[in-house]
Amino acid sequence: MSITLDQVTKRYQGSPVVNDVSLEVGEGEFYVLLGPSGSGKSTLLRAIAGLTGVDHGRIALHGNDVTHVSARQRGVGLVFQNYALFRHMTVGENIEFALKVRRMKAAERRERRKELLRLVALEGMDDRLPTQLSGGQQQRVAVARALAHKPPVLLLDEPFGALDAKIREELRRTIRQVQRELKITTVLVTHDQEEAFAMADRIGVMNLGRLLESGRPDELYARPATRFVATFLGAANLLLARQTEQGIRFGAAPVNARRVEKLEGGREQEVVAVLRPEEVELAPTRDNLRTNFIANGIVEEQVFTGAFERMRVRMADGAANAHIASPNTNGGNGSAALLDVTRTQHEQRLFPLALGQSVAIGVRRIHVLPTPLSSYTAYGSDEASCERLSQHPFLVELASRMKTRIIKRSEAPLVACDAPASAPVSGVAVIAAGQKTAEQLQWLLQNGAGEVLVLPAHSSPPQRVLIHWADDSARRSTLAVAASLLRHVAAEAVYVGILPEGSGGESQRPFGVRTLLDARSEAQAVHGLEMRTELRFGAAADELQRQLTESQDPMLILGVSDPAQLRGTFGALFTSGSTYPMMIVYRPSKDSEGAVE
Ligand code: ADP
Ligand code: MG
Repeated sequence: MSITLDQVTKRYQGSPVVNDVSLEVGEGEFYVLLGPSGSGKSTLLRAIAGLTGVDHGRIALHGNDVTHVSARQRGVGLVFQNYALFRHMTVGENIEFALKVRRMKAAERRERRKELLRLVALEGMDDRLPTQLSGGQQQRVAVARALAHKPPVLLLDEPFGALDAKIREELRRTIRQVQRELKITTVLVTHDQEEAFAMADRIGVMNLGRLLESGRPDELYARPATRFVATFLGAANLLLARQTEQGIRFGAAPVNARRVEKLEGGREQEVVAVLRPEEVELAPTRDNLRTNFIANGIVEEQVFTGAFERMRVRMADGAANAHIASPNTNGGNGSAALLDVTRTQHEQRLFPLALGQSVAIGVRRIHVLPTPLSSYTAYGSDEASCERLSQHPFLVELASRMKTRIIKRSEAPLVACDAPASAPVSGVAVIAAGQKTAEQLQWLLQNGAGEVLVLPAHSSPPQRVLIHWADDSARRSTLAVAASLLRHVAAEAVYVGILPEGSGGESQRPFGVRTLLDARSEAQAVHGLEMRTELRFGAAADELQRQLTESQDPMLILGVSDPAQLRGTFGALFTSGSTYPMMIVYRPSKDSEGAVE
């Protein structure tokens, strides 16, 4: 029986704990929900079971809407971490309990019990009490009990949590066998990546209440779309690279990359690349490398782990611009050039290495993430204001969640907005909100910025993010930025479509609704973002202003294709120094390209 979730949202104290999750689990599929503690996995599972209601969205089992159906009537089988067997009942009585409640005849019950005990490999244990069983055996009974009434769906919440490694592996195997034999649609929740890999047909990775990505384990590992999934599924070095006409470059060196999207508007840009530790090659000198040289380095840490050697190599040169967030570091300054490397026994024999030794570093291949948000640069007219802005709590949190850097750049022209910038803007430019926001924005866009984050001095982390674009040529980029940003904040996303009022505006409603649907499906299909949509009529700036005022802790993501729109159409948003964060996305439309001086 299939499970369908459509934009399921559950809030506690106004904050989304499960945030717009849409998902389809196929008939007979073994689906694993993977994520760190607190990411909303159990809440989502409880929503599927009907143990908790939802604030938004729909849940269907086998195509039947069960959103408002009681847990009992949904009848799914549940297994939790704490075995939750009836202590005073024998194994047999535990298993038969649900059947008795359903008034099944004694002889039939006995048959079913026998069959279930065979399935979970506990034949002959019928008369034991739970206290006479090991933890692993108790959990097998819990599985048998959950399956007794032939539920359409089996839900397992960290069922191996309390067991030691060897028992856990045995039980994993048993559960997988039972699941295959019964072909029962199953969702298992875990925070353990290895467990997810071992069991899943497909894995869905959750963080901050959102389902970030869903796919086959090997696909997610090789081609993650997000920083979070890349680093949560195994070790990964995250690097800032440059995408140029000639391909991806790391410092000055070209590297092999897979799945690279075309250059946007043909302009060079900073991108985020994933380098798995096993894709790094080390050699005595540059000439000995079989792959593209990226830098020289020095071995700084070395750990033997049996099959592999793990090490960290400090990059010495050649990679001046390549900030690295390697696993196990939080991007502190000292770690900005430390690369995680693993080597097989074979590689170790070919080139034995010791601490402190110099090496040439090569890269077999990297994977470029589609995110448009690479790094942050805090702009101010003097060093003190840059420093203050770089400490802004929301900015610090974003950068830390994205495992990226914040550069400070003081630019005198920010005040007068006339002279050109001392260096082209790359990554996301950040400015403090103030009286001159509109002028500063325009200046940054003219100097190459594609995204500008405007931060008021005192603003809470957003709870509701409104998304709007001035015209269609800014749509794709705005959605990409919104998707990337929303993976790193626990906020609900709403796209606001606005049609002019009067002069037949209302008659355009069907057109407007279609636009919303298109936007939603594009966000979902192309950028992995689930968002809600609202249609408004009126002047764009006024409508946005109204929505922002009505929202608790809002943020605005606004896409434009012409800097003049910021002072024209949207001027009203900038006149009084905003009180909420704004992300401005700018992509020149094809025909106005080059129109900005
Ligand atoms: P996970 O299973 O991924 O660890 P949960 O779904 O248990 O995460 O919890 C997600 C978040 O929701 C946590 O921050 C948790 O504190 C919060 N939460 C869960 N249940 C409740 C509740 N009944 N009341 C308030 N907050 C809750
Ligand atoms: Mg949990």
